[in-house]
Amino acid sequence: MKQFTYIRATSVDDAVAACAAHRDAKFLGGGTNLVDLMKMGVEQPLHVIDITRVPLNKIEEHAGGVRIGALVPNSDAANHALIRERYPVLTEALLAGASPQLRNMATMGGNLMQRTRCYYFYDPTYAECNKRVPGSGCAALLGVNRLHAILGASPACIATHPSDMCVALAALEAVVQVQGPRGPRSIPMAEFHRLPGNTPQIDTNLQPGEMITAIDLPGLTFGRRAHYLKVRDRNSYAFALVSVAAVLDLDNQGTIREARIALGGVAHKPWRVPAAERSLQGQKAGEAAYTAAARRILAGAKGYSGNSFKIPLAERAIVRALNVAASKQV
Ligand SMILES: Cc1cc2nc3c(=O)[nH]c(=O)nc-3n(C[C@H](O)[C@H](O)[C@H](O)COP(=O)(O)OP(=O)(O)OC[C@H]3O[C@@H](n4cnc5c(N)ncnc54)[C@H](O)[C@@H]3O)c2cc1C
Repeated sequence: MKQFTYIRATSVDDAVAACAAHRDAKFLGGGTNLVDLMKMGVEQPLHVIDITRVPLNKIEEHAGGVRIGALVPNSDAANHALIRERYPVLTEALLAGASPQLRNMATMGGNLMQRTRCYYFYDPTYAECNKRVPGSGCAALLGVNRLHAILGASPACIATHPSDMCVALAALEAVVQVQGPRGPRSIPMAEFHRLPGNTPQIDTNLQPGEMITAIDLPGLTFGRRAHYLKVRDRNSYAFALVSVAAVLDLDNQGTIREARIALGGVAHKPWRVPAAERSLQGQKAGEAAYTAAARRILAGAKGYSGNSFKIPLAERAIVRALNVAASKQV
């Protein structure tokens, strides 16, 4: 591992100032992704700013919704009464991720910033990876690409974003609160992660030196009719091949008032198609409507040698997730 200096921050201002004062610095949350990547030589920060003592570990009601501090462990967020009651899709997504030990360490901010699980990104013995070494090529295009993107990819990168939590946050239209050298700002979840385009090395729209301070979940009257479905090669401790966060608002006659459908494991960011969601409004909840919406979501999907199976899989997963969501008693 390359040598680095270790700095411990005890406030947001401290952490942001330390980051501004040092070139090539990284914040350290639970360390479950950053430290692995540093050991492999994929990440080589000169300075590591430990933010685990920064008091951002509360979950509280805020502006009609709920604010989750960036340092809250994933397991605490998943099991908090406010989240279980009002945003069960987030609880389900968090509990579908990693293992209990990892969830106890992993923080909300770190989960948002975790990097792809593309095999070629993780292994520096492969020369080609535009995300790791910009301009070097994408070995996954013609290589092993079972976990890779079917939507929104580019010739430069077909990696996927691996988070479960972020898929639920996208469906809930969460807002990420950040603070940087120019002060605080809010980033809607839809704009937080980026598609790869020609710059796959940049995962998010966080600016240099900005630190995530909280995640805001807006007040939602229909958050309980929801389901997170994760399809993976093993039933535990495996990243998603395809996942779906579905949230439905139905009237007493079973007509859809609003639908939210976010996909994971299929793109460089959680994937939503607002027009497909809107097309469900006013329709009777049921398989016919769900299938039509699923087809619309996947209309532009493109498979590669090892992952074309994801297209029909995602279609079926959307239908199943909506069926389960609709069956929830609220
Ligand atoms: C074996 C294994 C299996 C896993 N399985 C899954 C899975 O199935 N599903 C899933 O979703 N995840 C899975 N994960 C990933 C896990 O969820 C992430 O490693 C974790 O969420 C990262 O959080 P952390 O606090 O440990 O981040 P760290 O490792 O501390 O940091 C990760 C990145 O975030 C940055 N960062 C951290 N906090 C902040 C902040 N407040 N502001 C700005 N930047 C910040 C760091 O600088 C770093 O770049 C798995 C991980 C492992 C090791």
